Amino acid sequence: MLIDILSTICLTDLTIFFGSFMSKEITVLGGGIIGLSCAYYLNQIGYSVRVIDQRKIGDSCALGNAGYITPSHFVPLAAPGMVKKGIQWMLNPESPFYIHPKLDWSLLSWLWQFNRHCTRSHVERVKQALFELCSHSHRLYLDLEQVLPQKFQFQHNGIYVVSQTAKAQAEELALVRQAQQLGMNAREVSRGEFDRVFPDMEFDIDGGIYFPEDSHVHPGEFLSSLHNELKIRGVEFCENIEVKSILSKGARVTKVVGETQSFSVDELVLACGSWTPELAKQLGISIPIQAGKGYSVTVDKPWEIETPIILNEAAVAITPFKDKIRFAGTMEIAGVDLSINTRRVDGILKSVKRYIPNFDIESIDKSEAWAGLRPCSADGLPLIGRLPSYQNLTIAAGHAMLGLTLAPVTGQIIAEIISDQYENKYASILPTRFDSVAK
Ligand SMILES: Cc1cc2nc3c(=O)[nH]c(=O)nc-3n(C[C@H](O)[C@H](O)[C@H](O)COP(=O)(O)OP(=O)(O)OC[C@H]3O[C@@H](n4cnc5c(N)ncnc54)[C@H](O)[C@@H]3O)c2cc1C
Repeated sequence: MLIDILSTICLTDLTIFFGSFMSKEITVLGGGIIGLSCAYYLNQIGYSVRVIDQRKIGDSCALGNAGYITPSHFVPLAAPGMVKKGIQWMLNPESPFYIHPKLDWSLLSWLWQFNRHCTRSHVERVKQALFELCSHSHRLYLDLEQVLPQKFQFQHNGIYVVSQTAKAQAEELALVRQAQQLGMNAREVSRGEFDRVFPDMEFDIDGGIYFPEDSHVHPGEFLSSLHNELKIRGVEFCENIEVKSILSKGARVTKVVGETQSFSVDELVLACGSWTPELAKQLGISIPIQAGKGYSVTVDKPWEIETPIILNEAAVAITPFKDKIRFAGTMEIAGVDLSINTRRVDGILKSVKRYIPNFDIESIDKSEAWAGLRPCSADGLPLIGRLPSYQNLTIAAGHAMLGLTLAPVTGQIIAEIISDQYENKYASILPTRFDSVAK
């Protein structure tokens, strides 16, 4: 009886509290992992939400990704040595990092800004906050696992990183020390441990490190689980609608317009990944994001393996799922283009063979190769927040290699911003950034 009365009071209070939000409808443009997460947290606090995507929901950049949820990735993509590596590898068609040279103002300006951020001081400035942001998101995944009825192979086995050269291993050991200073568990791994954890696999490596607190999911199953839950909760999905233009009046966005349909907008969340700059341009906003194409191949498991491994110098991620294994890698800065370059897919598989000589490369069906576009910001940090020139426009994009990791926390922050609840906890990496992109 008491419980009944209490729950009635709580529900009444919640309804009054959320009632003020309910009148506003939020349009989320982009139904990738970031758009879906925004929809989830906005819906959770009572907003009515519509998600628009040019493709079917689920068919986005997270679908074939490596599935890592990595607080250990506290060094942003814009880190010392990245541009040098990109230039060195430009002539190698199988290299893991490649910048397609082209006389395009947005690319040149992005490269200039990216290069400016590839410094030790930038990494030092952002690593603590990036680690905390990733850890916060990791905790939200634990909550989601309890709430979402459709499971998504959420595994807490940690992630190994192996190196072939003594120099790279020494750099990884320095990373372990930095991780420990940030409050993370990380350690060097002995040969004996590799033999125990991966008994079927031969390694040709100098050494390895281990981040026990990282996790992984099956990203396709996570996308599907979130999508199904949102449908049950009444979120409206408008699929296969390419938004061609965004209209505005004064300081407000008013409408998004597709080929045959248009939608009035109360509040717009721009979550279009690598497509975000093109759309933002229509509002006079310049967003420094370039698409970073990556590939993956998913096949039957050739070995008994439960724990992911990163092949360090090759930048290849190996992810075990229930019966399958995924090899993912490559960062091609080559525009918004999803075509598959088989030379780079070969490059990924040959790297696996180099590190793990008993990998039977001939047995791999490369027709299964998949490509996705990571939205890479110029400073390697996500762009999450309001744009100062518009009262009803927020952006959630630019997550590069961390989109899956950071999806829940991004959704939560966007919901807090729109409902005026955001306390700017990640001030050192998320505020003021928009002064430089909004014009
Ligand atoms: C090989 C690879 C491995 C990766 N591994 C990991 C990993 O292990 N862990 C991790 O955290 N991250 C990983 N990532 C990165 C992660 O997948 C991305 O950061 C993330 O998926 C980006 O999500 P998004 O929603 O911002 O963009 P997207 O998934 O690209 O979603 C944007 C959506 O907007 C839609 N859209 C665009 N323009 C329009 C328009 N005009 N009208 C309507 N809809 C539009 C698109 O169709 C798309 O569905 C990996 C990426 C790749 C490629």
